[in-house]
Amino acid sequence: MNVPDILNEIRLPWIRRVANSLARGAGVRENFQEQLERFFDLMVQAIETGDPAWVDPIIHDWSNAPTQSDLRDGEKNISAVLNRMLMLTFELAREDLTEQNAMELMGAVLPVFTFALEKAARYEMETHVAFISKELSGIQKKLERLDRSKSNFISVAAHELRTPLTLIEGYTSMMREISVNGQSSQLNLLIEGVNSGIWRLRSIVDDMIDVSLIDNNLLSLNFQPVWLNQILGLIRNELKDSIANRRQVLDIHTFPGCDQMLFGDPERLYQAFRNIMSNAIKYTPDGGKITVDGRMLPGFEEVTIADTGIGISAEDQETIFAKFGQLGNASLHSSGKTKFKGGGPGLGLPIAKGIVEAHKGAIWVESDGNDEKSCPGSIFHVLLPLRTEPPNEMIAKLFGAEVKSDQK
Ligand code: ADP
Repeated sequence: MNVPDILNEIRLPWIRRVANSLARGAGVRENFQEQLERFFDLMVQAIETGDPAWVDPIIHDWSNAPTQSDLRDGEKNISAVLNRMLMLTFELAREDLTEQNAMELMGAVLPVFTFALEKAARYEMETHVAFISKELSGIQKKLERLDRSKSNFISVAAHELRTPLTLIEGYTSMMREISVNGQSSQLNLLIEGVNSGIWRLRSIVDDMIDVSLIDNNLLSLNFQPVWLNQILGLIRNELKDSIANRRQVLDIHTFPGCDQMLFGDPERLYQAFRNIMSNAIKYTPDGGKITVDGRMLPGFEEVTIADTGIGISAEDQETIFAKFGQLGNASLHSSGKTKFKGGGPGLGLPIAKGIVEAHKGAIWVESDGNDEKSCPGSIFHVLLPLRTEPPNEMIAKLFGAEVKSDQK
């Protein structure tokens, strides 16, 4: 018997056997039977013409048919179904055909199944890749929405808090005047307490506003000539009491370039370096040392702030620059700005990073890990461009032109 006749003979038993073996439930089987008829007819065409590509369209349809839940669970593998169909064809040929006809049939169908398996593997891979990319982009969109609402919340909360805070500040200053005139030392003490609370609240609200400005690319810099040694000297003065209280040593070296004129926003740079240096005090045990040094690199000035503190683990060295990226248990946070491990809201470093990057600089940290016993220390690096000419912003301000943020 020639191959077309053999195929004709096994058509019906083949469809019945494969349908019964692979499809559960009468409804599914009926539908599947139609599919199998189509497959069988295409297989016959492929064998007759010697071109296995005839089965390509049905393999393409099957591979693209999986539902979302099949894909999510990694189920419904067309390659497995094809393998099973091949096995059932072997079985049928062995049982129903003579040895000679069985050999003829297998020789004819094998190349078609090989082609179909190859195609199925390719299509399935493509479907999976497309599915995973779609899922990933959905997750990405959700994360972006979440981040946007977080940043909107920070911005709204900070602005809402600012107004009552200004009111309280006004009333306490009036109370102070009245009590100073009235000479009540006990009342003065209480008012001092309220004042320091207000000051702390004000600095958190200001930090929240700064973070939302940075998040929305709205941080505008007031470029002027600045000298790093002056900025560092002022910070030393501000932090001298904390350094003394913590019995620490702050060593600010006279490094190459520290007296070089740079163009930058002095207040913002002060804020960035103060955040880094108060962290160095905060995360270094009593009696430790903080060293500020630097060097000139081609086109950049590098400042390093090294401490002998508890250090930062490798996996946290990036997250600490993300807003609210503070580590440890939030309930253990103390309100002290320089108290040992007195965690804050986790805004200091994101602000420092935002300021440095707005200057077209870079910031990163190096540390051999976090260990409160051995104190491996941390070194913060700040890279600032050495501008010999005023940046565009400064020129724009002088001449009243607008400069886009990407020209910073
Ligand atoms: P926080 O308000 O918590 O200090 P920051 O943004 O200033 O927020 O710092 C984020 C986190 O980075 C801190 O909570 C701390 O865990 C870690 N960190 C920052 N500076 C240092 C440092 N010098 N040594 C060790 N850990 C540090």
